[in-house]
Amino acid sequence: MRLILLGPPGAGKGTQATRLVEKFGIPQLSTGDMLRAAVAAGTPVGLKAKAVMESGGLVSDEIVIGIVADRIEEADAKKGFILDGFPRTVAQAEALDVMLTQKGLKLDAVLELQVDQNALVHRIVRRAEEAKAAGQPVRKDDDPEVFKTRLEAYNRDTAIVAPYYQKSGQLKVIDGMQPIDDVTKAMNAALGA
Ligand code: AMP
Repeated sequence: MRLILLGPPGAGKGTQATRLVEKFGIPQLSTGDMLRAAVAAGTPVGLKAKAVMESGGLVSDEIVIGIVADRIEEADAKKGFILDGFPRTVAQAEALDVMLTQKGLKLDAVLELQVDQNALVHRIVRRAEEAKAAGQPVRKDDDPEVFKTRLEAYNRDTAIVAPYYQKSGQLKVIDGMQPIDDVTKAMNAALGA
């Protein structure tokens, strides 16, 4: 099973991806997580990505496409994967198509979590509070001002990715405003699982 999860920051992609991982036994490939790990490790990619990520902008297509190309070569991704946070631009979607075609692979579905953007700022404020209360690190970009920039980047560059997959008939739209368990049920139903 090869899936893409689309939706603005704070839509619940990470939460739902974790559940899909359990259900299908395939890895979640989150470009945000990979980039944060690169920043923490101080790798060349991390050094390039750090400031852009902290400001809420998008890391260059070249860097992100490179890390995804490497990651899907790894053994655990051979049986499938859930892409979370990628593709975020049409150029990334096109590059993914090329990568998959070269490997003779196809996507099974693209799931878009549709949410009311007005509700998202509250969600990320809560996410930051919950992380803090649990003694977990709080993401620097889970800050209301930076979040606005992330949402602008989404609306400018990423919102057009869903129509890209609509054209190819792969897009399934899910109401992301439902309670978390209902979103999971709707996703499973969309996948026929
Ligand atoms: P996320 O965890 O998906 O919200 O991503 C956190 C940050 O990582 C984003 O705000 C971007 O700066 C960067 N990032 C993650 N995925 C991508 C991507 N596919 N393209 C460009 N930048 C990305």
